[in-house]
Amino acid sequence: MAKTEATLKSNLDRLEPLVAKLREAPIRHVIGGERPAAAETFETHSPTDKSVIARVALGTAGDIDKAAQAATKAFKSWAKWDPDKRRALLHKIADTIEAHAEEIAVLESWDTGQPYRFMSKAALRGAENFRFFADRAPAARDGLNLPSPDHWNITTRVPIGPVGVITPWNTPFMLSTWKIAPALAAGCTVVHKPAEWSPVTADLLVRLCHEAGLPEGVLNTVHGLGEGAGKALTEHPQIKAIGFVGESATGSAIMRQGAETLKRVHFELGGKNPVIVFADADLERALDAAVFMIYSLNGERCTSSSRLLVEASIAEEFSARIAERVGRIKVGHPLDPTTEVGPLIHERHWGKVCSYFDVARTDGARIAAGGSAHDGPGGGWYVKPTLFTGARNDMRIAQEEIFGPVLTVIPFKGEAEALELANAVRYGLTGYIWTNDAGRALRMADGLEAGMIWINSENVRHLPTPFGGVKASGIGRDGGDYSFDFYMETKLVSLAKGTHKIPKLG
Ligand code: NAD
Repeated sequence: MAKTEATLKSNLDRLEPLVAKLREAPIRHVIGGERPAAAETFETHSPTDKSVIARVALGTAGDIDKAAQAATKAFKSWAKWDPDKRRALLHKIADTIEAHAEEIAVLESWDTGQPYRFMSKAALRGAENFRFFADRAPAARDGLNLPSPDHWNITTRVPIGPVGVITPWNTPFMLSTWKIAPALAAGCTVVHKPAEWSPVTADLLVRLCHEAGLPEGVLNTVHGLGEGAGKALTEHPQIKAIGFVGESATGSAIMRQGAETLKRVHFELGGKNPVIVFADADLERALDAAVFMIYSLNGERCTSSSRLLVEASIAEEFSARIAERVGRIKVGHPLDPTTEVGPLIHERHWGKVCSYFDVARTDGARIAAGGSAHDGPGGGWYVKPTLFTGARNDMRIAQEEIFGPVLTVIPFKGEAEALELANAVRYGLTGYIWTNDAGRALRMADGLEAGMIWINSENVRHLPTPFGGVKASGIGRDGGDYSFDFYMETKLVSLAKGTHKIPKLG
């Protein structure tokens, strides 16, 4: 048996008992360390063969209330934990996650359709998030001394309170740790509402946290729909802030829902990110990066480079080379280690992505590769990696977030037009610039309306750096100390030296 077939078989063998166990009983919420039985449930399906993986508790406003109460109670002691003890516990969670890396990888692949080659690293990335914020926990409360002639003015930070974390279905395990680890490190307690299309590893995460010794009520997980459990979480008076990752329209809804209780919000939303390739760039590296940033993770990636702006003088040849590559991308079973693109998460999302093939044709773009559904193993929600050429920036395929393995190519002439096209979208998450002219790279970076810009690179994350978008792509930043600024309140303590004059009245 070839090595890849053997790995597929061993992944399937590993998956089988895990899925059999999931079928035994519905996935329950975890509230205050307990797992209450739910009155109603919903199903989560595998996008690979459409089979039911598990039934899942359908959270209600009542469940959210219980979880908020549990988080409020736990906050009283968790906020005061010795930070070194908290650091050690968060490292223990990371150890536990690493010990379950294979289980997380196969379950995540099966629940979301994400290729195993990427998901095999999901647990390690998740553990790394815990370790990074664990090490920062002891300094989370640090502040500044801003002396004035008569006072020592000292700032410190305190955890804001119980917070809500609402996550989407793309790379859900890694992404949830990215939001939850800093909240816990800051001393907040959490109510997590995972996406309804990918609940399996969210349940695993809270179980692993408890296995590592996280006290009851510090992390609570309530499953369910956005308009049910999600909405109730954003409206709950005891929840002080909402860390949200998802669509821009949902961000607007959450802002409305949270207005009454004056919620602090942090939004990581959609993107339509440009990769801008000038003729003077290292075109081999630019090609690899452009292909990777849209066709990895099924294109279901907020930072994907979904618009390729390419200098007109090289547009034809560069597009042809991309089309050739795209035609060679291996679509297949997500647990096959050679698969590069797996099935999309859900029938509804698959339908949305496929609808853009007709939109492109109607609007007059050319389909240079793909452009249809794909008949993949298991009969699931596969699409062919797709390339649109001959597009204009005002077409829907250049303006709307498709969130699949679909790239739109638009030629430009000169720096000014590149910048104008790059910025002429409602989003502003990332931008990727390819040129060997340093001055031009800096001018472009300065002018790009985006929260994160990479020059001559694909998205390579460094955890201390800020992560977030502008315009319809988000509000606020994650990463490093930025995360603590969200999950903590800055407090001023001003100490008089006894030298200043106090005005006398009466
Ligand atoms: P979504 O907005 O549909 O759902 C995200 C979460 O919000 C889910 O848990 C959902 O149940 C919940 N939700 C839905 N309606 C709600 C409401 N009214 N109140 C409270 N919660 C509600 O997004 P999705 O389809 O799951 O995820 C894909 C989107 O996420 C894409 O737009 C993608 O760009 C974005 N995303 C952004 C980043 C980033 O860092 N900027 C990262 C990953 C994903």
